[in-house]
Amino acid sequence: SRPSDDVTLEQLPLREDLRGRSPYGAPQLDVPVRLNTNENPYPPPPELVADVTEAVRAVAAELHRYPDRDAVRLREDLSAYLSVSTRVPLTERNLWAANGSNEILQQILQAFGGPGRSALGFEPSYSMHPIIAAGTRTDWVPAPRRADFTLDTVRAAEIVAERAPDVVFLTSPNNPTGGSIPIEDLEAVLRAAPGIVVVDEAYAEFSSQPSAVNLLDAYPAKLIVSRTMSKAFAFAGGRLGYLAAAPAVVDALQLVRLPYHLSVLTQAAARAALAHADQTLASVAKLAAERDRVAEALRGQGFAPVPSDANFILFGRFTDAPASWKSYVDNGVLIRDVGIEGHLRVTIGTPEENDAFLRASKEVPR
Ligand code: PMP
Repeated sequence: SRPSDDVTLEQLPLREDLRGRSPYGAPQLDVPVRLNTNENPYPPPPELVADVTEAVRAVAAELHRYPDRDAVRLREDLSAYLSVSTRVPLTERNLWAANGSNEILQQILQAFGGPGRSALGFEPSYSMHPIIAAGTRTDWVPAPRRADFTLDTVRAAEIVAERAPDVVFLTSPNNPTGGSIPIEDLEAVLRAAPGIVVVDEAYAEFSSQPSAVNLLDAYPAKLIVSRTMSKAFAFAGGRLGYLAAAPAVVDALQLVRLPYHLSVLTQAAARAALAHADQTLASVAKLAAERDRVAEALRGQGFAPVPSDANFILFGRFTDAPASWKSYVDNGVLIRDVGIEGHLRVTIGTPEENDAFLRASKEVPR
């Protein structure tokens, strides 16, 4: 082996607080049915592929220049989409975009968290929230959900008032459990929070609950709503996340964002994809109907699916969830072990993929 292969992680002068941590890691295995990362199973339609290709071809002639640092036209398009879908008037000054909503969340913690500050989340929830907190040296404060994974918002507001975190994460619909938080309940937490409240709405398009964007005017100095094109928009590979907030929040994030973080190619491709929003989002109703069908079928098989407003379902009970997860893989179906005892999470795929999953569910050990 080459000398560089012999150097171990332990030998590196890594930050002490990062030693012994594990990276985020959904396995990327090559199996026939992949229902593990909450992607949209429908590939982009040919017209969208053609428009993205043409948009990228057009900007390729400008690749020797840096991109628009402020991504203004993309933010205009995102504000138009969000204004129409939430019926809340927004402008590009309310919008900010980055390489996936993970980068949005990281920028939020860089600006509003950091050493000596804390962020609180209600677990189980999106596992990247504490990982991004660790990366930005923000103290992570885990708070509980009810045993049925719903959020007790009265208790949540009390905990937030008591712990006074600089940042609160509320995920609605929640990943990996699927339930969303009614808007009145969000407000209870917003009132109690002394600092920033991030409502992570990665799966909002799949939910029938109104968006927290409706609360921006009432809580402009507290509320940030984070969104993504990775799920409903079927643009996970394009890497485009965004947020809606008061323009001052966008000003704050400019202090930590890397210059030219969104490439010319990303901006052009995202704008071309956004122009097809109606077509792409037509899959949302299909996926929601499939989600309800899969939940019903799981119940029929004697499983207990957790009620979901998103494009995935957490379900149990398994005696040994990691062993059952492996058995699904052996049956050609990749789902997700999210580390919740007795439970696994399945992303809703095409009807054929869901049928394959349901067939495997009859085979796996409980
Ligand atoms: N928030 C939640 C709740 C998620 O589940 C995900 C993706 N798994 C993200 C944010 C980040 O997605 P992306 O970076 O692709 O926008």
